[in-house]
Amino acid sequence: MTSTTAPALPRFPMHIDGKDHEAVEGGWLETKNPYTGKPWALIPRATAADVDLAVRAAHEAFTTGPWSRMSASDRGLLMFRLADLVAANAERLADLEVRDNGKLRVEMLGQMKYLPRWFQYYGGLADKIEGHVTPIDKANMFHYVAYEPLGVVGAITPWNSPLLLTVWKLAPALAAGNTVVVKPSEFASVSMLELAKLFTQAGFPPGVVNVVTGLGQEAGEPLVEHPLVARIAFTGGNAGGRRIYEAAARQFKRVSLELGGKSPNIVFADADIDAAVKGVISGIFAAGGQTCMAGSRLLLQASIHDRFLDRLVERMREARLGDPSDPETDIGPVATEQQLAKVLDYIEIARRDGARCVLGGERSTRPGCTQGWFVEPTIFAGVTNTMRIAREEVFGPLLSVLSFETEEEAIALANDTPFGLAAGVWTTDLGRAMTLPKKLKAGTVWVNAYRVVSYLAPFGGFKESGIGRENGQAAIMEYLEPKSVFINA
Ligand code: NAD
Repeated sequence: MTSTTAPALPRFPMHIDGKDHEAVEGGWLETKNPYTGKPWALIPRATAADVDLAVRAAHEAFTTGPWSRMSASDRGLLMFRLADLVAANAERLADLEVRDNGKLRVEMLGQMKYLPRWFQYYGGLADKIEGHVTPIDKANMFHYVAYEPLGVVGAITPWNSPLLLTVWKLAPALAAGNTVVVKPSEFASVSMLELAKLFTQAGFPPGVVNVVTGLGQEAGEPLVEHPLVARIAFTGGNAGGRRIYEAAARQFKRVSLELGGKSPNIVFADADIDAAVKGVISGIFAAGGQTCMAGSRLLLQASIHDRFLDRLVERMREARLGDPSDPETDIGPVATEQQLAKVLDYIEIARRDGARCVLGGERSTRPGCTQGWFVEPTIFAGVTNTMRIAREEVFGPLLSVLSFETEEEAIALANDTPFGLAAGVWTTDLGRAMTLPKKLKAGTVWVNAYRVVSYLAPFGGFKESGIGRENGQAAIMEYLEPKSVFINA
């Protein structure tokens, strides 16, 4: 992703106030295909001037436009219409994301098939946001609580699942009656630019959903700092999250932060080993390990450690790397050149720290994988919880394997991390399945499963994995402000 002045590639303009928009002064940025390593499209490089236009359009839509007068039921109907349009365009949107961030096409098709559910679920909730009358303890006083939208929401999202993670914000924000300015990742903006057009096609009034593209510092920061933005919904890394939290705090802005993870996947000796091997593989190697919920620390009970590790390595030796569009491919490229360098760095760090590489451990030299950004699926054994590969988020196909003797030790290891996004437990002991989730400091716990998410289930982090929750009924409350009204009757 570099600046260019001689664009010969397809251009995808921004979407502001229901119209196409090119950057006022910033020009264009190349966006590259991780499979080929080559640029394939241009996106606008927005600056504060473009962000200001988008925020003002969103503010006008919220305060005086048709959206401000629309009934909640009608908002819901628009969201149902949008869900149908997303379903009708699923394949096209999936292909754009495959090209932009190297995600497997089969995975994207599954994700896109599921995506309309968010608009249906929150569209259905739009007219069920009910206030209430309280039995207030004051004479002659009538009191009620009403829930009001906040105004303009700034949604800032990462490159790993651009559409899914943006929809997690858009659907509840719109159902609650807000308007939105989205700033997708500079590495994968195209699918969101195309999704934005569907909002207009569905009949959303101009200014309700706007998209500005560009760099975090040039387009993201002005969005966070804009005084007309009432709330920031951010998904991304902890460094960016911290800067955004600090900037938002200066204006007491509402914020939700969905950040990183170093999630433990704990396998007990009594587990169904076949199922656990499959779950561990999908937990860390799906999407090339580039998911916030990746099960990047495998905790194996000592009595099955060697047997389990052998099975895992044997299975992963069969994994096919290659073209993410090919349905036979198991693992695609990592999404950016920077990410490739970061993963290779962590491989060196792991070696220096004394971990034992039992699989991979290098950039891929397989046929078809040398131009793009491929890392061999990598497993390090003999990892201790103080090593950097056990403590820091790598965000790539790198698994750290640790060993434990007792359940207490497993819990202590699992919780000994600054993160708290997710955890997996593999056991056939019903008592353990029932009691362990309470002892794990993580926003999501899976038992005999991994990587399951739903529009119905709250998702978010304990500790440094974030603030707030997305999905489920609770998420809509994050986009509403309760108002307490006393009437002296
Ligand atoms: P990133 O933090 O580099 O960027 C995310 C977004 O923030 C981008 O759009 C970027 O342009 C913008 N940004 C960066 N700095 C900014 C600033 N100072 N002000 C405003 N905007 C700014 O993250 P990334 O590398 O794109 O994504 C990977 C990270 O996202 C990983 O750490 C991963 O764990 C995290 N993630 C978390 C979840 C979750 O739900 N918890 C989900 C997916 C990804």
